[in-house]
Amino acid sequence: MAAAPSHSKPFSAEQVVDIRHWTPSLLSFTTTRPLELSYVPGQYARIALQVNGQRVWRAFSFVSAPHEALLEFVAVLIPDGLFTSRLKELQPGDEIQVEHENYGFLTADRFVDGEDLWMLATGTGIGPFVSMLRDPAVWSQFRRIFLVHGVRHGAELVYRDELEQMQASAAAGRASLSLLRCLSRPASNETGGQTISTRITHAWDDGSLETLAGRPITADASRVMLCGNPEMIEHMRARLHARGMKPCRRMAPGHFLTENYW
Ligand SMILES: Cc1cc2nc3c(=O)[nH]c(=O)nc-3n(C[C@H](O)[C@H](O)[C@H](O)COP(=O)(O)OP(=O)(O)OC[C@H]3O[C@@H](n4cnc5c(N)ncnc54)[C@H](O)[C@@H]3O)c2cc1C
Repeated sequence: MAAAPSHSKPFSAEQVVDIRHWTPSLLSFTTTRPLELSYVPGQYARIALQVNGQRVWRAFSFVSAPHEALLEFVAVLIPDGLFTSRLKELQPGDEIQVEHENYGFLTADRFVDGEDLWMLATGTGIGPFVSMLRDPAVWSQFRRIFLVHGVRHGAELVYRDELEQMQASAAAGRASLSLLRCLSRPASNETGGQTISTRITHAWDDGSLETLAGRPITADASRVMLCGNPEMIEHMRARLHARGMKPCRRMAPGHFLTENYW
């Protein structure tokens, strides 16, 4: 979890440029970018909205890549959520506060080796992985990238078209991209191909994740990033340990990295 929002850090009022509603409870939005803010794909910002006369700060992972002029974020609207109830009403042109600091350690440059990168996301946890894939670095760091997105319904597979375009335009000398989807409550026509009807942890346990990918997950070859629901992360952490994989530490390289959203 992120530490309590700091009010001593510099921030500026930015403008909401565009809002996309993916489902009634999922939206993404772009904002102008403070000149002072730089970041690495996988990191997150602190952004604030005025709620009942108070400035409420929350952590949001960048979906945009560092070279992009605008900042992009994706958000799930939490019923009665303090911040997201206000976010839901946001219109282009509205003001949003953005801190000039970058945060977080879910960055691919922390892996010193490995051939395969596994990105495991639930819900809006896909955001930092889209940012990484919009940036060239990760495509030359690994030979194969496996992006696993766990959601309830197919409609929640945000950025699906963009990711499929990235997959189709894989070029020589760059990593291949496999897109695997786990739907926990799919409609009857939503599964098949690279989309299976189960949770990520179940797909790991019954072997269907690796079967679908056509690659085993091993401590030698695989590096794993986990983002989103803390329960998924806790369960996967135990499974990775059981395969002899260790978390990256500040001074010691490892096999996996995690980011809990709550
Ligand atoms: C490092 C970090 C990065 C984050 N990045 C994102 C992001 O890119 N997109 C995003 O939507 N949220 C993200 N979050 C969560 C975000 O900061 C807020 O907690 C969320 O927007 C809810 O705020 P709220 O005030 O509306 O709800 P609150 O009233 O604060 O309610 C919080 C509760 O909402 C639920 N919740 C919070 N976030 C999520 C989520 N992402 N998916 C499902 N349930 C959730 C949990 O049950 C949590 O206890 C991130 C959190 C952290 C710590």
